[in-house]
Amino acid sequence: MASQKKVSIITGGGSGMGYAVAAELAQRGGWVVNLLDLNAEAGGEAAKRFGATFHKIDVTDYPSLGVAFKNVYKAHKRLDFVFANAGIAERGDFYATNNTGEEPPPAPNTLPIEINVTSVINTSYLAQHYLRQTPDDGLGPRSIVITASCGGFYSCPAACIYGASKFAALGWARNIAGPMYKRDGIRVNAICPGTVRTNLLSDDLWEKFPKEYFVPIEKVVEVVMMLLDGDGKQADGADFQKALVGQTVEILGTSHYFRTQVEYCDEAMAAVMSAPGVDDLWA
Ligand code: NAD
Repeated sequence: MASQKKVSIITGGGSGMGYAVAAELAQRGGWVVNLLDLNAEAGGEAAKRFGATFHKIDVTDYPSLGVAFKNVYKAHKRLDFVFANAGIAERGDFYATNNTGEEPPPAPNTLPIEINVTSVINTSYLAQHYLRQTPDDGLGPRSIVITASCGGFYSCPAACIYGASKFAALGWARNIAGPMYKRDGIRVNAICPGTVRTNLLSDDLWEKFPKEYFVPIEKVVEVVMMLLDGDGKQADGADFQKALVGQTVEILGTSHYFRTQVEYCDEAMAAVMSAPGVDDLWA
């Protein structure tokens, strides 16, 4: 029998935003919270602190990720919310000179792409599989929130691979939101925070960002909960009338902004980009 509590999976739940969202769900009550994280110490402690279940998982390992999703689904016979959030920052200076002469230099470190993009795709894929099997009993929101970044909107040359990963994560959320909602009623949205002082960077690096613009982590939690609950308001307080599907919400300081994709250059491009649809292509 399906659990009477709603069931969540939070990747990167051992620290930062994942931790804060998990703590909020646990505090709300009525939720089973599952933390997936590479960091067993942080994840284990976090789980103990608010009665969650910890799964030591490297999100880049698809089979292990799949087993974690399966175990959660088998235990509760439902899955309601997935926060695809685990991520890492830039892993080196892309522009550094290599003294390898005629020999090609070692490959750049593209781990941010693997974790922030490929694993987000895999997490969304598994989420789709289990969310769509969840009984539509009105209890669950059947929702995915993807953590992109303000680096998904604006160029960020100092963290060029990280920035590319967040452009991809943002585009990914926008791409899948329509079809997943149409086919299975699953709502996909993304958050795009500015700087949030988490363990993503060292204290030394955080000192290089303007302090006055840090996003309080509670603000991130507020936006994630708004997306999970499915209704919300613009930064100016006006009601946002559309259902919260396919939204990419930028967060800076204590404000948030619903951001749309760039406009088509002309009607021809609008026609090109809207054909063929998913059902035409994959019928
Ligand atoms: P954080 O470092 O505090 O938390 C990230 C968590 O992800 C950590 O617990 C870490 O162990 C886990 N993780 C990393 N690689 C993993 C892997 N391969 N498998 C499983 N778990 C893994 O940082 P955070 O700021 O809370 O980051 C959460 C997300 O927010 C990331 O996607 C990050 O890119 C994004 N983000 C952060 C900021 C910011 O300013 N902090 C801004 C925009 C977006």
